[in-house]
Amino acid sequence: MMKKFLMGNEAIAYGAVSAGVNLVCGYPGTPSTEILETAAAINDGSYYVEWSVNEKAALEVAAGASYAGARTLITMKQVGLNVASDPLMSLAYVGVKGGMVVVVADDPGPISSQTEQDTRHFARFSKLPVFDPSSPEEAYEMVKDAFKLSEEYGTPVLLRPTTRVCHGCASMDVGDERERHQPEGFVKDSKWVIFPRLSYQNHLKIEERNPVLGEKLSTYRFNTLTGTGRRGIATGGISYAYLREALGGANPRVLKIATPHPFPEKLALEFLHSVDEVMVIEELDPVIERELIYLCGKHHLPVKVYGKISGDVQRAGENSVESVRAVLSEYLGLPKPPAPPALPELPVRPPVLCAGCPHRASFYAVKQAMRGQKAVYAGDIGCYTLGNAMPLDMVDTCLCMGADVTIAQGLNRVEPDAKHFAFIGDSTFFASGLTGVVNAVYNNSDITLVVLDNSTTAMTGQQPHPGTGRTMMGENRPKISIPDVLRALGVGHVEVLSPFDHKAAVEAVRRAADIKGVSAVVFEAPCIAVSKPAPLFVVQEETCIGCRKCIRELGCPAIVMHGKKAFIEPSLCYGCALCAQICPKTAIIREGGEG
Ligand code: SF4
Ligand code: SF4
Repeated sequence: MMKKFLMGNEAIAYGAVSAGVNLVCGYPGTPSTEILETAAAINDGSYYVEWSVNEKAALEVAAGASYAGARTLITMKQVGLNVASDPLMSLAYVGVKGGMVVVVADDPGPISSQTEQDTRHFARFSKLPVFDPSSPEEAYEMVKDAFKLSEEYGTPVLLRPTTRVCHGCASMDVGDERERHQPEGFVKDSKWVIFPRLSYQNHLKIEERNPVLGEKLSTYRFNTLTGTGRRGIATGGISYAYLREALGGANPRVLKIATPHPFPEKLALEFLHSVDEVMVIEELDPVIERELIYLCGKHHLPVKVYGKISGDVQRAGENSVESVRAVLSEYLGLPKPPAPPALPELPVRPPVLCAGCPHRASFYAVKQAMRGQKAVYAGDIGCYTLGNAMPLDMVDTCLCMGADVTIAQGLNRVEPDAKHFAFIGDSTFFASGLTGVVNAVYNNSDITLVVLDNSTTAMTGQQPHPGTGRTMMGENRPKISIPDVLRALGVGHVEVLSPFDHKAAVEAVRRAADIKGVSAVVFEAPCIAVSKPAPLFVVQEETCIGCRKCIRELGCPAIVMHGKKAFIEPSLCYGCALCAQICPKTAIIREGGEG
């Protein structure tokens, strides 16, 4: 055993490696990303790691490996499971041979997601077991337990940490032994081919299995029943940690649910028989609360159940020690939490595109090209969603990964007199943009695709993708060219250039917009996080007339007003030269040189 100070996501990777994982794959997404990165970082060469192009591809790669007996770990964020749900739903019926753990990180808040969807529902929907850790230490242990359960029952198993478990850190004992699992290889069998008759039979088996599994999980070490008193509390996940802290020395009856599905009914019934009332404290949806209400009805138990449904616990957003304390002070009569100390007024700091970000230059070029024309801008998931902020104001819609190119098509069917643009990043293009482009070409849509190729998956922390050529196994592969892919898919007009050549960029957008049908402009310029800054720019005070155009139109955080003159903060400027190209007085020049 070694003592290690690990983030929850790191702990999950260590747990999987300790359990003898053979293949790790996934798609980056906060708060799950570090799991796969850690697995790659500690890889001694005994297993395979890849960033797949999207979550569906990852799950299918893992399914194939698992059919051949490999132990597989798949990582994604909660909305990624929507993408992977097609193979997951069928795989739940087909089953696996090598253990398969699907880690789906939920994001209460949400802090960096489109939705507050609750993966515990997906477990019930897909009829799969799910583990819900309340700490990084539990996450480490549970991933190992999940592999065992997966192989014992021949089923994929979900592990669902939430953001504070993923990103919280703890000192924990980590086994230095790595189990070496040798996959036996693929054995041909009709069970791997899903047909309606087989699905029917497997459905019956799953319905028989889950109650048995629920009973078994009633004695699972992390499903616990503690404390005394007739006023009980039921909880799970990170809310359990908040509860323990909020309770202080109090010791009420507490049911902790670590496996929300199949629900450990036997343990829950023991709890319900011992209390008159229950307060359910959980994040996201009232999953435990509904299970307890169901059990009370099924067994005619006169227990009052409070929680989100009754309106006693907040229905959305994250819990915290303070929010749990507030609930407990009402419910258990514990001392009211002290009023939080008054905080000083902090300046408002909305998220903005970085100084020197190529997306700013791309959005600005399109905006200038379309000035005075009726145009709608469909955006997508990535840093470039921030293009909707003022002063750019260039993202009119954002739905889900890859939806920019298809939303634009739908908009154009209704308003063909307007010009419709679709903005998509390079990683998103490979993840889920291709089918939308094919749809546009096939159905002769009239849209302009603007690919914002910054050579990385920027928002989640610079992960490689097929366009970068680097893999998580350290190989250099031929880069897949986005312009070549677009041309191969039938996009007739494709221009490739840097958005930092402002005049050329505006002209390229105008040419593309004039094309009837599908056209594309690929703006290539690396994210500032993967490139070196160029020499800085400065404002010549004597030339600047204080018109504020550089601030009003670009919104680069490096430019501020000092009195009546613009000023470039040297610690922020990346030397992209965009502001210098739009200043009407050429007052902005490269430091020590010409404009
Ligand atoms: S655009 Fe040029 S002249 Fe106008 S404020 Fe900025 S630096 Fe000064
Ligand atoms: S050159 Fe201008 S636009 Fe580019 S980062 Fe520096 S201040 Fe911002």
